[in-house]
Amino acid sequence: MKRIRKLPDHLVNQIAAGEVVERPASALKEMLENSLDAGARRITVDIAQGGIKLIRVNDDGSGIAADDLPLALDRHATSKIGSLDELERVATLGFRGEGLASVASVSRLTLVSRPHGEAHAHQIIAIDGTLHPVEPAAHPEGTTVEMVDLYFNTPARRKFLKSEATEYAHCAAAFERVALAHPGVEMILRHNGKVTARLPVQSLADRVGAILGRDFVDASLIVDSEAGGLTLRGLVASPTFSKASRDAQFFYVNGRFVRDKTAQHALRQAYRDVLHHERHPAYALFFTLDPAGVDVNVHPTKVEVRFRESQAIHQFLFHSVHKVLAAGAGEGRAAVDA
Ligand code: ADP
Ligand code: MG
Repeated sequence: MKRIRKLPDHLVNQIAAGEVVERPASALKEMLENSLDAGARRITVDIAQGGIKLIRVNDDGSGIAADDLPLALDRHATSKIGSLDELERVATLGFRGEGLASVASVSRLTLVSRPHGEAHAHQIIAIDGTLHPVEPAAHPEGTTVEMVDLYFNTPARRKFLKSEATEYAHCAAAFERVALAHPGVEMILRHNGKVTARLPVQSLADRVGAILGRDFVDASLIVDSEAGGLTLRGLVASPTFSKASRDAQFFYVNGRFVRDKTAQHALRQAYRDVLHHERHPAYALFFTLDPAGVDVNVHPTKVEVRFRESQAIHQFLFHSVHKVLAAGAGEGRAAVDA
C-alpha cells in the first residue's frame, strides 16, 4: 500500500498550469486580463518566437506594491475577491489568483511594478518556482510581466506546442479578443520586434474595423437593446457576410470573451430565416447583465459561463438580434460610435 502524501507547492502549481496555461496564448490572456483589471489605458505586448521564447506585457495600470510582489506570484493570492459574496458578483476578469502562479511555475518570470504615485519600482524574479528576493528596479508607473522560455522545465508539455507560426496565431487571436472589447485602451502588439498591431484609443466601430476588417463593419447592422437589466450592444454582419467557419463570432459577457451554447443557439436561431444552414453568422456582440446572474467560475480559463436565467437570456438575445436582422435586411450600415 502506498502512503498518501501532500504534493509540494511547486508541483501543485505545475499541475494547475496544465489547465490555465495550455499554450503561450493562454499565458498572454492571463497577463492581458491582469492589465485590464489594473485599469490600464495603454498595453504593449512583445512576443518572440510565437510566445514560446518570450511574452512581455507592459501596462500603465495601478501597479503592485513592493511588499505584494511575492504574493502576486503565490497561488490563490488575489486582490480581487475576499469572500464568497464577492465571488458571486465578481466584476473583474481575474479572481482565482492562479494566473501568475501558473505561468511562473512553467517559465522564467520577471514581474516589475511601480504603483501609481510611488517614486520607485521593484521587481521579483521566479525561476522554476523559486522566488528571488524583491529588488529595486527602474520602471514607470505600471507593471511589466515578462515570461521567458515557456515549459523549459516541463519538456513533456513543451512537445505539445505547435510551430512558432501557429502559436503566434493563437497569441494574436487572444490579443484581438481582448482588444475588440476595449476600444478605450491603446494596444500595441509586436512579434519578433516587428509591430503587427497598433490600435489607438478609438470608437467601437473603428476597433471592430481594425480587427475584423472594414468590410465587416460596412456589412453590419447595429444591435443596441436593453430589457430587464440585460443589455446587448455591438454589430451583427448581414447574412451576405456570413462565414464558412465560426471564427468571426465574438461574444462577450460583461467584457469577457466566452463560448456559450445558449448564446450561440439564440444567435443561430435569429439568423435562421436569412442564412443558409451551412454558413455561420459573423458578429461582435457585448452582452451585459448583473454579475450575480452569471457564474464565471466554471472553468479555470473562464471561457465558459453559466447563466442563472438561461431561458430568459436566450429569448433576449434571440429577439435583440432577430428584430435587427428583420428590419435591416440590406439597409443598414454600422456607422456607430458606441
Ligand atoms: P488574479 O488575476 O486571479 O487575481 P493573478 O495570479 O493573475 O490572479 O494575479 C495575482 C494578483 O497580482 C492580482 O490579484 C493583482 O493584484 C496583481 N497583479 C497581477 N498583474 C497585475 C498588473 N498587470 N497590474 C497590477 N496588478 C497586477
Ligand atoms: Mg489574473
